[in-house]
Amino acid sequence: MYEREHGLNWLCFEAPNGHLSQRTRLSLSSSSTSATTTPIYAQPGGDSIINLARGDPIMFERYWRQMGDKATVVIPGWQYISYFSDVTNICWFLEPEFAKEVVRVHRVVGNAVTEGRHIVVGTGSSQLYLAALFALSPHNASEPISVVSQAPYYSSYPSMTDCLKSGLYKWVGDAQSFNKEGPYIELVTSPNNPDGDVRRSVVNKSEGILVHDLAYYWPQYTPISSPADHEIMLFTVSKSTGHAGMRIGWALVKDQEVARRMTKFIELNTIGVSKDSQLRAAKVLKAVSDSSEDAAGNSEEDESFFEFSYQLMAERWKLLRKAVEHRGSFSLPEFPPAFCTFLNRVSEPQPAFAWMKCEVDIEDCESFLQGHKILTRGGKDFGVSPKYVRISMLDRDDNFNLFVKRLSTIHL
Ligand code: PMP
Repeated sequence: MYEREHGLNWLCFEAPNGHLSQRTRLSLSSSSTSATTTPIYAQPGGDSIINLARGDPIMFERYWRQMGDKATVVIPGWQYISYFSDVTNICWFLEPEFAKEVVRVHRVVGNAVTEGRHIVVGTGSSQLYLAALFALSPHNASEPISVVSQAPYYSSYPSMTDCLKSGLYKWVGDAQSFNKEGPYIELVTSPNNPDGDVRRSVVNKSEGILVHDLAYYWPQYTPISSPADHEIMLFTVSKSTGHAGMRIGWALVKDQEVARRMTKFIELNTIGVSKDSQLRAAKVLKAVSDSSEDAAGNSEEDESFFEFSYQLMAERWKLLRKAVEHRGSFSLPEFPPAFCTFLNRVSEPQPAFAWMKCEVDIEDCESFLQGHKILTRGGKDFGVSPKYVRISMLDRDDNFNLFVKRLSTIHL
């Protein structure tokens, strides 16, 4: 919702095919002359609006259809009706079955250390982000602790951090220009949303506390180099398996007291996390691990989730790069291939978002593309120049293909 609503000047009534219906109202800013003068009748897809501004990961739907009942859950009416899951665990609302599958999927993929970690489940990793801020902020300080992240940063961080004007923590902005003395929290998103960069902390001061947001550290997006081993790591099914609607994320936390305080935050907010969702997430993660371990490749139902999703991302990046190279008016970041310990071969980084730059004399790339009825998010939301836009690579095939076609017809 944040990503969808924040800073957008259009109303969105979405049709089931992912396109926007006629009720969509597009209010173009008066400064974007390119937007108002661009003829739209000759565009592929006519005047339909292509919305790639959100990061809704629906492209894996095809895989899950293929899986039939392998990830289906049925919960009888009398089951899982208590608030509690395991009162012996610090995170007392964590379903043991879900915790087991979290540990397993990290072991199978090799992307994070789980030994000696506490698992805290959250309503999406968004809730865990706020829980981490709550847990890490000194509660008796005279001023809020500074929260920073290297620009371009995930556009929801500033609004989530400051939405309640907390006295505990405060969004300060780009980590690279941060030079205040004292404690601070640095968010390290790797691979990064929006630009796909593999990142490390940049501030490097003694009183820093790091939170690693590893939503995209999965083999379809980036080569897995080694198991991540940080104090606080955030993951989510939204981007790993594509089940954003389940609203399940998890944190791997080294420090017991931090895990306890994160749990307290979730208790105060929502008295736990939906058990139904945790059980469904457990089933989906199990299907992912099973498909990775037993992939026989003989039938669609045996197909490895990460092979499928890697190939899908590869096809999309190839199409997009071709469309961009074709005109030379836009550019995309280049990423060096690297060995992926999970795929056991050299693989290409292929981020969930394309971070595209307008190379010609257009200052506001978002408005320019809006004029061609392509909705993206402009660089300003991510703390950088409006010459950049972020484009979701995770939409349905028909929408993505239409976008690539339309982009390749844009004349500058
Ligand atoms: N962190 C990053 C970097 C993200 O891109 C997103 C989703 N856009 C989230 C966190 C939020 O994930 P969730 O759906 O689990 O709340």
